[in-house]
Amino acid sequence: MQTETIQISSAEKLFDLSKTASTIEYEGRELSIEWLNEYHSELNLYHSQYLLLDNKILVISSEGIPNPLDIKKAIRHIELLYKKKGIKGVDVIWDVKFNEIPSIRVRKALIHGNKQLSKLLRKRYLVLSRQFNSLAQTFKFIYQGKVKDLYFSGSVDEALKNILFHQHAEHAIPADSASSIPSRKDLLEKSKEELVDIIDKYRKSYETSKNKVVDAIGQISWKGKIKKIGFDAHENESNFELINAFSLLQHDVGEIIKEYKELNQNLELKVAERIVDFIDKESNLRAILDNSDRVIWLMNTRYELIDFNVAFLNEIKKRYKKKPKINQNVLEIMTDEREQLIWMDRFESALKGKPGIYLDQDNYDNLDRVLEIKTFPIREIGKIKGVAVYIEDITELKDSQFRLIEKNRDLEKVNSELDSFVYRVSHDLRAPLTSILGLISLMKIETNHEKISEYIGLQEKSVKKLDMFIKEIINLSRNSRLGITVSNIDFDELLNEIFESQHYTKDAEEIKRICEIEDGLSFFTDRQRLSIILNNLISNSLKYMDPQEKDPFVKVQVAMEKEECIIRVSDNGIGISEVYLPKIFEMFFRATKDFSGSGLGLYIVKETVEKLKGRISVKSKTREGSTFQVRLPNLKDRYDAAPKLED
Ligand code: ADP
Repeated sequence: MQTETIQISSAEKLFDLSKTASTIEYEGRELSIEWLNEYHSELNLYHSQYLLLDNKILVISSEGIPNPLDIKKAIRHIELLYKKKGIKGVDVIWDVKFNEIPSIRVRKALIHGNKQLSKLLRKRYLVLSRQFNSLAQTFKFIYQGKVKDLYFSGSVDEALKNILFHQHAEHAIPADSASSIPSRKDLLEKSKEELVDIIDKYRKSYETSKNKVVDAIGQISWKGKIKKIGFDAHENESNFELINAFSLLQHDVGEIIKEYKELNQNLELKVAERIVDFIDKESNLRAILDNSDRVIWLMNTRYELIDFNVAFLNEIKKRYKKKPKINQNVLEIMTDEREQLIWMDRFESALKGKPGIYLDQDNYDNLDRVLEIKTFPIREIGKIKGVAVYIEDITELKDSQFRLIEKNRDLEKVNSELDSFVYRVSHDLRAPLTSILGLISLMKIETNHEKISEYIGLQEKSVKKLDMFIKEIINLSRNSRLGITVSNIDFDELLNEIFESQHYTKDAEEIKRICEIEDGLSFFTDRQRLSIILNNLISNSLKYMDPQEKDPFVKVQVAMEKEECIIRVSDNGIGISEVYLPKIFEMFFRATKDFSGSGLGLYIVKETVEKLKGRISVKSKTREGSTFQVRLPNLKDRYDAAPKLED
């Protein structure tokens, strides 16, 4: 590298020199120049540059206001430079270009740093611009004799000349000069008289009111504490007014500080009380939140979690296999895009100030659940700061609500049925009874034997009608009251029994009876109920025969289909009009007046089929015939599980 010697007349702009310069010629002296690493603060705009002159003068130029950490780091930087270069005992010129007064914290850090640097350095020249002279003055005053080898200088040039030529420039005043107290070493060399003189002079110089004021201001500005000084300034003293004003100010500031300290103490106490209170409340709230079965979470306007309860934590862990964290975005936890969109809509509407209630049908993990979701905007001083969400599993509630509605419907049906039932029963019971009573009164006055036996025949008919009706009612009540007794069904035997009992019905003999029962059929159900079903269907088919039909028949077909028994009862009777078909299973409904009956039969059939968990359907056409089809489940399992008599 080419070496370059640059002539300079002033040392003010050393750092503006070309970095290729290796030597400078200054005031007739050649000085080597070496550039060292710079320091840049990471925290603010503060930065320092370093260069070494002739291996014995360190020049530093700092710009910006450092903070205490910067000062620590800058000093560490100098220490490292020293270690690396292996030099010690150099002089330092530190050009500090403050543009505002550094804070007390920074000033304290500077003093501390100074102590450390004094171990490595010899003389330290702090170059301060004029406007900070007063700061330097107060420093000198309160640290008099305590800080060694520190000088304040007005310019780099001045400081450099002082080092090189030991000339005391105008402003290069030792920091402890204000006290004019010689160093301890110097004092030891003095005679007793000289010492008394020095102490006296020092006392006198200090005792002036002006010095006291400077001292007090120094205390405040460098140590941040008020040192109370009593003044008795003489009226003829210069600056008398100013000193008195300061005395007043000092008193007032003292009072204010005292008050402030008391206030502060009270405030701290209050804050402590509030914190305890807050912690209490917070833990109470937490207990409430965490003991709730509901999933609860709070989030800010960016959907980030502010807080959540244990139920939320568990739900997220179970559903998404994730552990939610405070500040985490709620939408990011969800994996399904559709789900995210649905929730975003809900959040947005709450963030607009609208609380919401939503019902979700949930089928996570094959578990059908009904979830009630409530969203509330969180308001703080009128502004919406987030959303609170509550989710409650209301499956059971909904189920029981549903059951209740069904029960109610059933009850209503039973009630209306009961009404018409009572009416019909009383009517249908009374009709034959009235007819019997009428016939009896006729018989009382009748002497003709033939007539009497005719009346008896009519009475028998009425009694049979009554008996029939009462049987039907008994069947009905039995069906609803009694439990199911399952047994293996022998259809041959059962159908024989039924046809046998229907034998006496009018014209019954003319009707062909066909039974088609599947071979090897094995079917289990309640025999008595099945008998009621078949009895009613068969008796209807026999009753509603078409008198014009030449080959009337009733056909019963029984077959198994999977686990169901299918029973078909068909005829070629009068059939049922399409208009009436939907109503024929209703209580007391009758589609014709040409035949006698109560209108209870098919109602009983339907109720009984339902009791056996089966279904019934009908196909019919007027003048062609009807087919009733009953499907009944095989109750073999129930039979197998039931305790047997021999057990
Ligand atoms: P009823 O006591 O009148 O027979 P049901 O409840 O047994 O009462 O029947 C209701 C109505 O359905 C009857 O009045 C009749 O009009 C019609 N019905 C039932 N079964 C048949 C059938 N096999 N053929 C024609 N009509 C029928």
